[in-house]
Parts: sequence; structure tokens; C-alpha cells
Amino acid sequence: MIFENTRAFASQLDEQDTLKHFRDKFYIPIINGSESIYFTGNSLGLQPKTTQDYVLNELEDWASFGVEGHFHARQPWFSYHEMFPQLLTKIVGALPEEIVVMNQLTVNLHLLMASFYQPTKERFKIICEAKAFPSDQYAFESQAKFHGLNPDDVIIEVQPRAGKHVILTEDILTTIKQHANETALVVFSGVNYYNGQVFDMKAITAAAHDAGAFCGFDLAHAAGNIPLQLHNWDVDFACWCSYKYLNSGPGGVAGAYINQKHAANKSLKRLAGWWGHHKESRFMMEKGFNPIPTAEGWQLSNAPVLSMAAHKASLDIFEEAGFENLVTKGQQLSNYLFFIIEEINKSVENKIIEIITPNNAKGCQVSMLMMEKGKEVFDTLKHNGILADWREPNVIRIAPVPLYNTFEDVWKFGEIVKLIVKKR
Ligand SMILES: *Cc1c(COP(=O)(O)O)cnc(C)c1O
Repeated sequence: MIFENTRAFASQLDEQDTLKHFRDKFYIPIINGSESIYFTGNSLGLQPKTTQDYVLNELEDWASFGVEGHFHARQPWFSYHEMFPQLLTKIVGALPEEIVVMNQLTVNLHLLMASFYQPTKERFKIICEAKAFPSDQYAFESQAKFHGLNPDDVIIEVQPRAGKHVILTEDILTTIKQHANETALVVFSGVNYYNGQVFDMKAITAAAHDAGAFCGFDLAHAAGNIPLQLHNWDVDFACWCSYKYLNSGPGGVAGAYINQKHAANKSLKRLAGWWGHHKESRFMMEKGFNPIPTAEGWQLSNAPVLSMAAHKASLDIFEEAGFENLVTKGQQLSNYLFFIIEEINKSVENKIIEIITPNNAKGCQVSMLMMEKGKEVFDTLKHNGILADWREPNVIRIAPVPLYNTFEDVWKFGEIVKLIVKKR
């Protein structure tokens, strides 16, 4: 599509957008008396207007039934979590028995590493991306120490080449090959949180398996953003949070994927709890852990129903909108944002923004490295009701999301940035 940098063009795209009415299903934060332009759905997705009712239902059932709600609530809490795999199959590209909704993201990463990071004398390396999200870095570091190893001996970070921001797939695959005999685990994010790069999960998984290692992904910035095929790519495990693109509320319940071939393997090592135990005999309260032969076998605790109610409210909206439609619109929005940023650069003598997100491997997020005036641009955006995200030392992350952002949002953003940068 040939884009134009005019309000008329942007609003025409909005008119033609078959998903445009979904915006009305969300509360849009108000700044200075009017609706903000919310570009931080990659950080905390907005609240669906239906969420309160879903949560209220559970509060009412708790009030009415007390403990009996486990079996007599409208949606009994005993099996509450069982609604989710079906709703997430399309979003993560996995079989229902490979998916479980539980805990929070970093907790799940640790639980999965307990199963899939089993270092030996020969194989103990973890290969990951440079600049992984800090929580992931701390998880890798502490897992190494937990096994009595020195993180400096264990962790291999694949870097972008000098002066570049994107990590080449070629370099990832070569690194895995170089360390084939000593690698226990390859873990990457699906989408890097900082530059928005989508990793080639299929190729990385195949390379890890060729090397005889397990392969897992942290999908915090990928779930609900880009199409995923975890099962077909033969990924071993993955985890994600629900409060970014999945709009399920701050600190909301997270998700995990365990490939069927491992999920059914009862002898795979794991940290266990009663909710992972065989359902029929769970309440016999007997000795001897007998895991459910699906991803549910990694559950520890009974379901956090209030948080799950918020998750359900949001996933019902994804179901209604159709995930493929959301992906298509998300790509159009980020393509338009690329175009608008180039228009900003054209309007000034010296290029002021370097886009560090690869155009051919991106989701909704576009990261702008500001050559100058970064903080000023960021503050002025906020002053004008545009919420973006600032990352030291000089990166602004912008994520127009398909459920509630518009093409006109993107156009307006460009106009405001132009006003600031032209003043220099
Ligand atoms: C957002 C994010 C986290 C946050 O972890 P929580 O356990 O949900 O606090 C971790 N890792 C990545 C890659 C993230 O993007």
C-alpha cells in the first residue's frame, strides 16, 4: 500500500478498518481532559470494559458460596483454568494440552528451566540474546548458580554486530553450532523488548535441536502480538505474561507451553505442587506425586480466579476479533508508523530518528533511537496526551496496537514530533 502523510488518508484507513469498533470496548486513559493516544499496550494493555463484570461475577460467587464455589460457582473454580488452552491455541500456535495458564512470567520461566536446564559436566551452556529483559538475565544467572556453576562460564550472549542494533539470525545459528557440544539450553525472547526485533524462532529451534540442546522462548512481547507456531516449530517450552498485548491487568496470571512430547513425559524432572497432580486422586491427599500428562502437570497451586477472570474477559475479545485479523491490522499500523517516522526525518535537515526495529521482522512495536532531543520529544508527547515509553539512554518505544489504536493516532504522533524537531 502507498501511504500518505495526511489526516484525511489516516482517517480513511480508520473508516475502512473492520476492527474499528473494538476500540469502544476499552477504557482509554484521559490526559488533560481528553482521550490519550495510548502507545504503551506493549507494556500494560488497556482495560476492557467487560473486565469488571467478569471479576465481579467471581466476587459475587465467593460471597454466595464460600468454599463451595470451587464446585458450585457459575464457572467452578476447581476447573476454572481449563477454559484457557482452547482460547490460546491460535494465539500461541499450540495444542490445548500443551498450554497452561498459571503463576506469573518469571516464575514460569524458572519452573520450565527447572525441567529443561539440566546441566552436565559436558553440556552446561545457556545461549541467549544480548540485552535480554533484566528479569530473564537474572533468571539465567541464578539458575547457573543454583546448579553450582559460575554464570560467566554458562551464559553466552549473541550480540548485534558492531554499530548495529539487530541481532542477525545467521549469527545466532553460528553461535549455536560453535557451542554445539556444550550447550544445554537455547533461550530467546520471541520479540526483543528493547528494539522490537522478532526472532526466527523456527530456525533457532532447529539449530538448538541439531546441537542436541533444548530450546525455549520468553514470549512476553510476542503473545497476542505476532503469529506463533510453537507446536509446528517443535519448540520445547515457552512462557508469556498476559498484561502486555493480552490486556489482562497489571501482574495478571501468565501462561506456559510445554511441547506435547515432554508434557506427556511423567518422568521429566520438575518442581511439583498439588495442582499438577492427577485430578481424580488430588483430594485423596496421598503421598507420591503423579503428574497430569499435559502442560497442567507443571501447575503448583490452585487457580488465582480473580486474575483469571480478567484474563478471560480479554481473551473473549481476542476470540471475537479473530487473531489473524488483529495481526494484519497490527502490521499495517506499524508499517504506517515506519512511514510516518521517515516523513519526520525528511522534514528536517539531518535525520533525527534512527529506527532500530527491523522492518522485515517486527510486530506492533517500533523503537526510535533519538539522535538528539530525545527526552524533550518524549516529554512533549506526554504533554500532548501521547503515552510512549522511554528507555535509557535515548530510545522511545511506540506500540500502536490493533484493538484500540487508530491510523489517525499514528498520524497525529508524527505531526507533534515534527513540531518539536523543527524547532532545533
Ligand atoms: C515484561 C517482561 C518480563 C516481566 O516479568 P514478570 O515476571 O511478568 O514481572 C519478563 N521478561 C520479559 C522478556 C518481559 O518482556
